Amino acid sequence: MVKNLSQVSRNEINQFLNSFDNILFDCDGVILLGEKIIPGVKEAIEYLQAKDKGMKLITNNSFRTESDWDSVFENVDLDFRSEDVVFPTKAVVTYLQQLKFDKKVFVVGPPRMRKQFEESGLDVYKYKPCEQLRELHDIKDHALDDPEIGAVVVDLDFNLTYAKLVKAGIVLKRPDVHFILCASDKTVPLGDNFKTIGSGFIGETLEMISGRRPIVLGKPSSLYNNIVQDKFNLNPERTLFVGDSLITDMLFATRCGYQKLLVLSGTTSYQDMMNCPKDFAPKYYLNSLADLKTSLN
Ligand SMILES: [Mg+2]
Repeated sequence: MVKNLSQVSRNEINQFLNSFDNILFDCDGVILLGEKIIPGVKEAIEYLQAKDKGMKLITNNSFRTESDWDSVFENVDLDFRSEDVVFPTKAVVTYLQQLKFDKKVFVVGPPRMRKQFEESGLDVYKYKPCEQLRELHDIKDHALDDPEIGAVVVDLDFNLTYAKLVKAGIVLKRPDVHFILCASDKTVPLGDNFKTIGSGFIGETLEMISGRRPIVLGKPSSLYNNIVQDKFNLNPERTLFVGDSLITDMLFATRCGYQKLLVLSGTTSYQDMMNCPKDFAPKYYLNSLADLKTSLN
């Protein structure tokens, strides 16, 4: 049975706090909501810093470049830097660099992903949007394969068109083209019971068109954790993962052997948590990370 950490005995909280040396935080819904810090979270982080806990961030958010992350931390006055964050875009860069990849990357993702790839030295394919398809046969001239493309990277692409999707599917017919999916969420909650389509659907569409499976470089993939571990080299048993999503965060933490703390300040409601499958349910939850500090006062 999952327990509210702010309502257990002082002894149990201390035991819990002594059971890990490092903390991996998800970012959106745990520390930030949009560009704003969740009230009380700064104080909780400072408390954990004073306890000598090492802290890093593991997010599925590909909408920021390294310099965007630095600006966000500066704006909310948090003592993190971009090198403390693992995000899918950078994981793709690391992955492709490890493979000594030297072809072009076709980005079916947000403009900031494309920018980060360019800043990291990847050769990004310059996709020319199709002005107009007057009839369906026109797609054959537009959606041509280009042998210079060696990878298709998929995340949430606001400007995705039918023509771009068809082209990505055609490029992926070549088995030597890397097929990489970042965030695999099927839906993205935007508050007020509004959910929009997530990049998981785009990945799944391309999977059906191409007949291939992507590798996933985002939570809950354990391959993503390989990038995390290459960078930070943590002992999973002595590492706590704090997240707001059951599938993305709690399943990821379970697969990777991290301890888990769920917070209800983001996508998961109390009811969702109570219905969580037992095999990746957390032992503890908090309504917000901020409650960690107040419960110790
Ligand atoms: Mg989150």
